[in-house]
Amino acid sequence: MTEKILIVEDEAALQEALAYNLKREGYQVEVAGDGLTALELARSLHPDIILLDIMLPGMDGFEVCRTLRKEMSTPVLMLTARDDEIDRVVGLEVGADDYLTKPFSMRELMARVKAMLRRVRLIREEISAASPEPEAPKLMKFDNLTINLTRHEVRLNDQPIPMKPKEYELLVYLANHRGMVLTRDSLLEKLWGWDYVGDSRTVDVHIRWLREKIEADPQKPQRIITVRGAGYRFEG
Ligand code: CA
Repeated sequence: MTEKILIVEDEAALQEALAYNLKREGYQVEVAGDGLTALELARSLHPDIILLDIMLPGMDGFEVCRTLRKEMSTPVLMLTARDDEIDRVVGLEVGADDYLTKPFSMRELMARVKAMLRRVRLIREEISAASPEPEAPKLMKFDNLTINLTRHEVRLNDQPIPMKPKEYELLVYLANHRGMVLTRDSLLEKLWGWDYVGDSRTVDVHIRWLREKIEADPQKPQRIITVRGAGYRFEG
């Protein structure tokens, strides 16, 4: 299956260079030069990943990402003009998966794109391995916490808990590896596809957000345990 990549970039030269190089790698490529077109194409084409420039005419990349995140979990690689243009945490908060600072080499970009697509495949396998036939909703139950893998819904005390797609993926991954110590680096690689020495703060931030949602007392977590010097362990 040919993987689809949506490029959102208003600089014509860069847009062309990206499209040319990605097509040459065998990907199906679509381009948008502004945020509204990007949203329309993302909705109609269901790309596998999105390359998203931050400085766009009209709606900027952050706003595009925020809007996308309410509707889909498609991984987003932010393209930023300056290092200080984006704070990692701002990017994470709007739901970006990774970012690349301009100017970047095509080789660097390809490595990120491949890592992201690898992650997309792994997550799909992980979720489909855990999911049964659609008519029989599969539930993972941990006391008063229920993960409905068919509906991608998490409930605590039978109340639905709103989750960002990445939080949901992290929770499913933790739940599938209950009782195992998972290092930050392995979580980063599995869920964000960063196979370089990534920013482990990304994992910590998401763990904190998850704890705020599923722990009775996020300051004294009983479900997601920090294993000092190692990583995290999901207790259920
Ligand atoms: Ca731009």
